[in-house]
Amino acid sequence: MKTVGVLALQGAVTEHLNVLSRLQVRGIAVKKPEQLNDLDGLIIPGGESTAIRRLMERYGFIEAIKAFASNNKGLFGTCAGLVLLAERIEEEEACLGLIDCTVRRNGFGRQKESFELDLDIPVLGQKAFPALFIRAPLIIQVGSGVDVLAKVEDNIVAARSGNVLVTAFHPELSGDDRMMEYFIGECLR
Ligand code: GLN
Repeated sequence: MKTVGVLALQGAVTEHLNVLSRLQVRGIAVKKPEQLNDLDGLIIPGGESTAIRRLMERYGFIEAIKAFASNNKGLFGTCAGLVLLAERIEEEEACLGLIDCTVRRNGFGRQKESFELDLDIPVLGQKAFPALFIRAPLIIQVGSGVDVLAKVEDNIVAARSGNVLVTAFHPELSGDDRMMEYFIGECLR
């Protein structure tokens, strides 16, 4: 059985653990870097990226997650987690720098705080994915090794590079578990 951790410093932790249990994957709330040793993959959830980043620095997660990624473990960043995984953040220094893309925080503007869209995500099949965006970031550019999985107009909202998967939306809140199934099936070894 695969074991997947959810970084449990701030943000949507329980919701991800619920999806994992629906998919019969062992889910662990990760509060200390040592816990990474037991995992096949790690989810960095949505929340407030500045707050999560400060706590990651305080508890020694930055180097630990970089080492985890260099061992080819899976990483899935949703919303704030995408911001933290990106190699470039507009007007800010990058945090983990583990996927070659440039992110714009709050990319949909303040007037669009939260909304749901039926998204075409070809790797998940024909049925549209009900994607929930909450003060979501946007990916405004990706490097050549990155696969674009979904777009809203010209903006990228889901991407994958090797074992690293990112979404600007919150797949754990939509009741449709296909994005998590994709992570478990494709990004874990
Ligand atoms: N806007 C938040 C940030 O940049 C992310 C919002 C979310 O994760 N739902 O940190």
